[in-house]
Amino acid sequence: MLSLNNVTKKYGNFTALENINLEFSGGVYALLAPNGAGKTTLIKMLTTLISPTNGEILWNGDEIVRLDASYRDIIGYLPQDFGYYRNHSPREFLLYMSALKCIDRDKAKRKTDELIDLVGLSDVRDKKMKKFSGGMIQRVGIAQAMLNDPKILVLDEPTAGLDPKERVRFRNLISSLSKDRIVILSTHIVSDIETIARRVIMFKNHSLFANDTPTSICGML
Ligand code: ADP
Ligand code: ADP
Repeated sequence: MLSLNNVTKKYGNFTALENINLEFSGGVYALLAPNGAGKTTLIKMLTTLISPTNGEILWNGDEIVRLDASYRDIIGYLPQDFGYYRNHSPREFLLYMSALKCIDRDKAKRKTDELIDLVGLSDVRDKKMKKFSGGMIQRVGIAQAMLNDPKILVLDEPTAGLDPKERVRFRNLISSLSKDRIVILSTHIVSDIETIARRVIMFKNHSLFANDTPTSICGML
């Protein structure tokens, strides 16, 4: 289980998030927040890029900043605006990312092929990503986030810019991945929340405003 206990993040004198308490145990958690509400700040703390000013973030009782390298094995991350390496094929890109993650070559090959099949890109595994649609690129993004079999998958606006058909397909993929792990995603898209989220988390005035089921939240929107 992942938990935030009284987490506050300040940038200088400015408080971006104040006294946040949250628990994540499994399934899809959607962060629904307008720009400036603090979702990037939360995602950066969860991926250990920045630390809380006060409070603690715990994975099964251990502070994530102290777990360090072993925590990075637990987390998979799909950043916003993912989609570089367009001159590479999905297979080349995933092998390169595996090398960066220090996954040994044989395992990387096996894992890469397995993930390409899982995200539905088998037919284009050796094609350059140049002509890939937004949805195909996001599926490569999910595959790279899954290379280390993470227990926590953090997806920053994963469905932004996808057409409706690809969005449905992508949501089904996310939903299937959330069966054995925690998925935390940020989104502005209400249909993402209605269809796959187990909990919806909202911030207002830099504090936690809601942490509830999609049905209760959608009544409020
Ligand atoms: P998003 O599109 O995810 O809301 P933003 O455009 O708000 O992201 O911010 C992009 C990056 O710039 C983030 O990493 C954020 O931490 C940083 N940032 C945002 N506002 C400021 C600021 N006032 N001063 C310094 N950095 C900032
Ligand atoms: P969101 O991702 O929801 O748009 P952010 O977490 O990027 O929100 O930002 C929350 C607030 O904190 C914003 O007002 C932003 O300007 C401010 N902020 C973010 N990063 C920095 C930073 N590095 N320095 C100063 N202010 C920041």
